Amino acid sequence: MFHSPRPLVAAAAVPIAFGRAGVLRRPQPRFNLVVDLTQQPFSKRWWRGLATLTALVAGVSQLAPPLGALPAGTPVAEGSDQARQEAALAVGALSQGSATGLTMSEGPLARPIVSAPARQSRSLSLIVSPGDDLARLLGRNGVRVADALQAAALVRAEKALPAPGTTLSLRLGAPDGAGQRPIEHLQYRARLDLELVISGSDAGLTVERRQLGLDRTPLRIRGSVGGGLYWALRSAGASPTQAADYLQAIGGSLDVGSEVMPGDRFELVVAQAKSADGRTLSGGLLYAGLERSGGSDLSLVRVPLGGKLQWISETASPEPVRSGLLTPVAGPITSGFGGRMHPILRFIRMHKGVDYGAGWGAPIVAAADGQVIRAGWTGGYGRQVRIAHEGGLVTSYSHMSRIVAEGGFVRRGELIGYVGSSGLSTGPHLHYEVLKDGVPVNPLGVTMVSRPLVDNRLMAAVRARAKALRGL
Ligand SMILES: [Zn+2]
Repeated sequence: MFHSPRPLVAAAAVPIAFGRAGVLRRPQPRFNLVVDLTQQPFSKRWWRGLATLTALVAGVSQLAPPLGALPAGTPVAEGSDQARQEAALAVGALSQGSATGLTMSEGPLARPIVSAPARQSRSLSLIVSPGDDLARLLGRNGVRVADALQAAALVRAEKALPAPGTTLSLRLGAPDGAGQRPIEHLQYRARLDLELVISGSDAGLTVERRQLGLDRTPLRIRGSVGGGLYWALRSAGASPTQAADYLQAIGGSLDVGSEVMPGDRFELVVAQAKSADGRTLSGGLLYAGLERSGGSDLSLVRVPLGGKLQWISETASPEPVRSGLLTPVAGPITSGFGGRMHPILRFIRMHKGVDYGAGWGAPIVAAADGQVIRAGWTGGYGRQVRIAHEGGLVTSYSHMSRIVAEGGFVRRGELIGYVGSSGLSTGPHLHYEVLKDGVPVNPLGVTMVSRPLVDNRLMAAVRARAKALRGL
């Protein structure tokens, strides 16, 4: 019997049985759709199998989807109103200045005009950006080159160039053949109390200064120290500069880090100018007062002395004052001066200064008036500031996160940087050293003598000024 090991059509699982002679053979069911076409070719059963296979293939090919192209959207005729509307609504039209595109398709009654006359005048509102030049800004916005240059020259002569952010209101005349327009009117606020107006005529440009009335009543700010003096000042309405000025002012008379208590009340008087239309400009600090629960009150006035403005206490005495160095940061001493186990290097080492534990970003102030002799990265000290003082003293402040002092003279209590953990350090703290003639000494044992600057006549003036400012 012909037998193929690989039937063309796989038979369904048919049980295998042994026949009489013990020969392995397949049972032949009476009717089976599945026919092995390799067996008994051209027999009746074989033809039936072939017919079944052909019918199945034909049926499947009838059920399969057609292979032709799928229908797309309905094409729109070129140039029709709907095509124009769709073009107007597309993203491309938006980039060319269309707001919505909804009204961009004209109706059938619209007729194009032969030539469009240019607008006779044009009004613009321009904002000066940082680093921009007035002549260039005007030129970019269609102003005639000669007018732009002349306007810039006039403004420069008036010393009233617009600051960045200033809004210029500009009106331009009819364009010339090259499409450039003359200035008809240019107006802006040059300063809080000054408006500048440039008018154009056939004779050229003229400039006019309009002085605005100002109310210069100083502003008084009061509040309670609470959890922290700096943020209390800021939340009471002082600007960052005014708050820093205040800290520096009182820092000359007391130790802000340790002598200001939560219950103390501060008082500031700051210069302020207010224009009739409600704009304000705040200026410098004029008066710094502190009502203290744990000590005598402070009342300081800024007066010109020795060629610069200095803070003088209303109660300053003409006697020499002996005072220690200021604590450079508000925080407890976590490691004193002398021998100790170094936390990173792990051996006994002379600790040449004092460590103050303070949070990341706590302000660090100069311990006394002096000259900044170093402000930068110094090996294991990280970011460091060194200040030289009178009498051969040098103070050094290390591991800062940020340095503010840039060099030059600093006042006692002036902000020089912020606490960090730069260099060889295990966490945010201030490593503070004091050197006397180059040798590290215990910072807590150093005192300095500051000489009085005031005489009786100046003190009378200071008291009068303090009284006037407090009485506002
Ligand atoms: Zn240290």
